[in-house]
Amino acid sequence: MSKTILVVAEHRDGALRQVTYESLHAATLSSTENDQLHVAVIGHSLDNLTESLSSINAEKIYLIDHPDLQQYNPEAYLTAVMQVIDASNPDGIILGHTAIGRDLAPMISAKINAGQISDVTNIENIDEQVVYTRPIYAGKAFEKKVFQSTPWVVTIRPNNIAGADSSGEKAEMEHIEYAKPASLRTVIKDVVQNTSGKVDLSEAKIVVSGGRGVKSADGFKPLQELADVLGGAVGASRGACDADYCDYSLQIGQTGKVVTPEIYIACGISGAIQHVAGMSQSKIIVAINKDPEAPIFKIADYGIVGDLFEVVPLLTKEFKKA
Ligand code: FAD
Repeated sequence: MSKTILVVAEHRDGALRQVTYESLHAATLSSTENDQLHVAVIGHSLDNLTESLSSINAEKIYLIDHPDLQQYNPEAYLTAVMQVIDASNPDGIILGHTAIGRDLAPMISAKINAGQISDVTNIENIDEQVVYTRPIYAGKAFEKKVFQSTPWVVTIRPNNIAGADSSGEKAEMEHIEYAKPASLRTVIKDVVQNTSGKVDLSEAKIVVSGGRGVKSADGFKPLQELADVLGGAVGASRGACDADYCDYSLQIGQTGKVVTPEIYIACGISGAIQHVAGMSQSKIIVAINKDPEAPIFKIADYGIVGDLFEVVPLLTKEFKKA
């Protein structure tokens, strides 16, 4: 029997986010040939997304466009997603394991009485069963899980599953009128977008991260310069955030963001387990630390024992030449 899988899309500044293409691929990995792929696109001024949406390889795209949906709001988005679920009647729902997905997914699961597997890093088909892998114990181990029943909800960790091929037949579009809920919390102050970095931290291919070793807010400047030269983003340990050297939006780790870049450059970070939980799945880890005994070297692919204020500008200078 064929299934329907619904992907809840995320977009920003008139373009679908990379995690949406990864979710679409995750939907393909979770389905068989005759299954239907549906996409929910929620927001305001969705006309801006026409070009991105035309490249989506799906049977149907549901759009809900309303000024209340301009910014993420849990009640408003849940209402809109539930409207799409009523129309699509999916067997499975996939979201990114992002700030929005982490908030929305459990509410959806509770509403539709679904089982949920969160923070999925790999999807395989084993003996005709779709097996989802997710890290546990702060990334020290992995567990493999299968769903015994439908409906189900999955969130996927950004940067782990390849993005879907964007060439395909044009999907059928269906506009749904937003049924505004009776009680709705509203944002009475502006939503302030963090503009410190040019590249989104959770989607960056290269992350240059600073710890307490950077010693001050100014100490992050050489890291930002290196990140700019490499086209990457700057991250931080909680040590650096707690010391007020940078904003908490940069924090990576168990209680911060989880990143999986191609290259993670840890500068002046000791490598506490809570930090490692947020970056251990990076493809290549480079550690710069003046203490040769720092635990970060145990997980690093490349280690430089030295003063970050000497090493980082040297790296920037060399990469500028390349
Ligand atoms: P430190 O441990 O102080 O390390 C600084 C490092 O910089 C040292 O290794 C030192 O040798 C090196 N250094 C100093 N000067 C230089 C220099 N000039 N050049 C090169 N190296 C230099 N932490 C997180 O990061 N993320 C989390 O999400 C997180 N969640 C937590 C949750 C809980 C419940 C708890 C209890 C803790 C959590 N922590 C988290 C905190 C974590 O335990 C560590 O305290 C923190 O990661 C340490 O930050 P740090 O490595 O920057 O600082």
